[in-house]
Amino acid sequence: MTDHAIAATLFGPQDLRMIEHPLGPLAPGMVRIRFGAGGICGSDLHYFRHARTGDFIVTSPLILGHEISGEIVEINGAAPGLSVGDHVAVNPSRWCGHCARCVEGRANLCENIYFMGSASKTPHMQGGFASVFDAIPAQCVKVPSHVAYQAAALAEPLAVSLHAVARAGDIADRNVILFGAGPIGLLTMLAAKLEGCGEITVADIAEAPLAFASKLGADRTVDLSGGDAELKALGA
Ligand SMILES: [Zn+2]
Ligand SMILES: [Zn+2]
Repeated sequence: MTDHAIAATLFGPQDLRMIEHPLGPLAPGMVRIRFGAGGICGSDLHYFRHARTGDFIVTSPLILGHEISGEIVEINGAAPGLSVGDHVAVNPSRWCGHCARCVEGRANLCENIYFMGSASKTPHMQGGFASVFDAIPAQCVKVPSHVAYQAAALAEPLAVSLHAVARAGDIADRNVILFGAGPIGLLTMLAAKLEGCGEITVADIAEAPLAFASKLGADRTVDLSGGDAELKALGA
């Protein structure tokens, strides 16, 4: 087992460095994960370009990355359902378990939530763009070993899309329009199809993502870069 990790660490705007740091002994109640794959979120790019995302300002070196999959290499303590060698998708949020939201079973809205690779709290919670990193067992969602790490790393953004589709109610056989053909929009399109929606239209202001939407199965794409006449006609 290696005693060092190497991590993509942000020091300031456009100052991302691969930094090696020593790994201490794994703390009780934690699991250690070897990096498999990581997705680059829009927020990672904001951090990289400006050393901030909205109100979250990087005030000390921050390892980016919160769409991560990997393999469990060490466990210290109880980790129900998890074993060394398991492949996991990592839930980037760590909730407190005792605030009002946590108690009512909505840990995603935890008032004291920490989020991997985010400057929302100081000290910042380090992210997963690291050769090895630690998490709590509850953050680890086991995936079959035949699922590619790249696919498992999409679990976090896919969760956003599944939630969006769930919020939309019953969309079976209903026509759907999605605004934005970035990764979240496209995953939402796939999630809507999974729910058996009717015709699906994707609107965006850029040609390349719209072409990709068509490739992934959009029935119609609308390019809004030249105005919304086509969209208005659709609504009529
Ligand atoms: Zn993200
Ligand atoms: Zn909480």
